[in-house]
Amino acid sequence: MSPIRVLDRSVADRIAAGEVVDRPASAVKELIENSLDAGAQSVTVEVEGAGLGLIRVTDDGCGIPAEEIPLAFERFATSKIERLEDLDVITSFGFRGEALPSIAAVAQVTLTTRPRDVETATRAVVTAGVVERLGAHGAPVGTTVEVVRLFFNTPARRKFLKSPAREQALVAEAVQRAAMANPAVAFRLRFDGRESGWWPRGDPASRVADLLVAGARSDLIGVAGAMPAGSVTAWLARPERSRPNRTGQHLFVNRRPVQSALLRRAVEQGHAQLLPVGRFPAFALFLEIDPTSVDVNVHPRKLEVRFRDEHRLFGAVAAAVREALLASPLIRVLMSPGAPGPQAPGAPGHLLATTASQALLSTHEPRGTYAAREEAPVANAAVATVGANLLFPSLRPLGQLLSTYILAEGPDRLYLIDQHAAHERVLYERIVAARRRGGVPGQTLALPLTVDLDPAQMALVIGHLDLLASLGYALEPFGARTVLVRAVPALSARIEPEAMLLRAIGALAGEGEGPDVLERLSIATACHTAIRAGDRLSPEAIGALLADLAAAENPYTCFHGRPTLVAVSRDELDRWFLRG
Ligand code: ADP
Ligand code: MG
Repeated sequence: MSPIRVLDRSVADRIAAGEVVDRPASAVKELIENSLDAGAQSVTVEVEGAGLGLIRVTDDGCGIPAEEIPLAFERFATSKIERLEDLDVITSFGFRGEALPSIAAVAQVTLTTRPRDVETATRAVVTAGVVERLGAHGAPVGTTVEVVRLFFNTPARRKFLKSPAREQALVAEAVQRAAMANPAVAFRLRFDGRESGWWPRGDPASRVADLLVAGARSDLIGVAGAMPAGSVTAWLARPERSRPNRTGQHLFVNRRPVQSALLRRAVEQGHAQLLPVGRFPAFALFLEIDPTSVDVNVHPRKLEVRFRDEHRLFGAVAAAVREALLASPLIRVLMSPGAPGPQAPGAPGHLLATTASQALLSTHEPRGTYAAREEAPVANAAVATVGANLLFPSLRPLGQLLSTYILAEGPDRLYLIDQHAAHERVLYERIVAARRRGGVPGQTLALPLTVDLDPAQMALVIGHLDLLASLGYALEPFGARTVLVRAVPALSARIEPEAMLLRAIGALAGEGEGPDVLERLSIATACHTAIRAGDRLSPEAIGALLADLAAAENPYTCFHGRPTLVAVSRDELDRWFLRG
């Protein structure tokens, strides 16, 4: 080995630069943050050759006094903090004084800047860290930073880049993230001379709508809540706007884009059972939090944050999200592609109508069971819906379709209800409520039943007798491989004790969904006892099911996240028949 040597300054700078600027998108992010710190109201980002040819960021911020320009390119030179204590109360994006020198170490940088009270702009060129003043220049107030030939002197860094298309997409994402968190600032994005995005100054909700749901403001559900040491504001895309991946998830802490598995999971937890497996919520979440309770200084690029009191934060975010979701009517209104603007179910007119009509009705007593009967469905049963859920529409049952769906009329809409999914939801909530009260009642069998089990099943039953009892199963081991069933959950007219027990044992063994064994067991029990597709229902059974659904806390989805009901608007029906 060679003797130990201190690295040459320019080599050290290039290595350090790699921590801050590892790809074009991170240079763009740093430049935008400088513009925002400078109080810009408008930021333009121009990129050529996926950022390797040119990155130009122009702002109308405060500018840099001519005499300070060389300092701006010194490492650890910043106008944003002075003392160590300032680190605890950072309100600016930058504070390390590293971005400009890092970029200048791996590219050629031209800076043109004019402070507000100065007549002319100053231009400087920085090559390999050496600043050369070019003197006075005509330019508007603000700053333009041009970065050319990024990574020209660090070929290794170039090799680690992804395809130009991918790098360009990352640049666009960086701009979009900044735009999302700074709606009062106009942003413009150009790739190779062509405009790729323009976001005028606006309010937070419309900016998020622009970026998350293609401008459909009514497809956003607002969340506002108090947090330990701060507050949360979020906009959630309605569940039908969910995505097959997490690309639509944007987190900000004190307006800084961050990664946080904790916050992401909290929002997903708030969506529990509202989305099918494999779908992910799209959202923008803004946490405003006392800077002393968050550590942004964890990652060199300040992306990953840590929080104090993570447990309470998680609970508070999940609860705020849940509350906002269940306070919005989540019924999906079916619309043919290309139909004119959505008359969202969240529209105020709709809300008023349902809330007012339901407020007059008395509280709802859950019905017992829905006897399945071999009988043709009859239309025009009495108005059945009396809901605890004030957003749920009043439904008049019209009948059953294909022995699988229930048809109902609500204010100005046709509703289709999946009878199995709806009943699953009702039973599941009933089980959860009974669990809280001490246990699901059991229905004693007239004749106890013996069920033969294999040793593994037997062990599961013996190991979970109390748990099973809390769900309404009264079981007694009866010899080495047989169990005596004395009672099963009293939930439904459908009683198949042996099949129910086997299903329950499957849940104990880990089959099916649910975070823990009690949850899986509850889900399996609800699923097994629910009426199925193919069951003919009497008008009374239909009425009772709709009433129970309306009283559910979350009447919109079964626990698999599939919808329990969908709506077809009058406009849509008119379109089908080519009316007007
Ligand atoms: P930091 O942002 O951490 O302070 P930078 O290296 O990014 O460090 O910038 C160094 C300094 O240059 C900043 O503190 C600021 O004073 C000045 N500066 C950089 N960009 C701009 C800009 N667009 N407008 C005004 N001042 C800027
Ligand atoms: Mg900076």
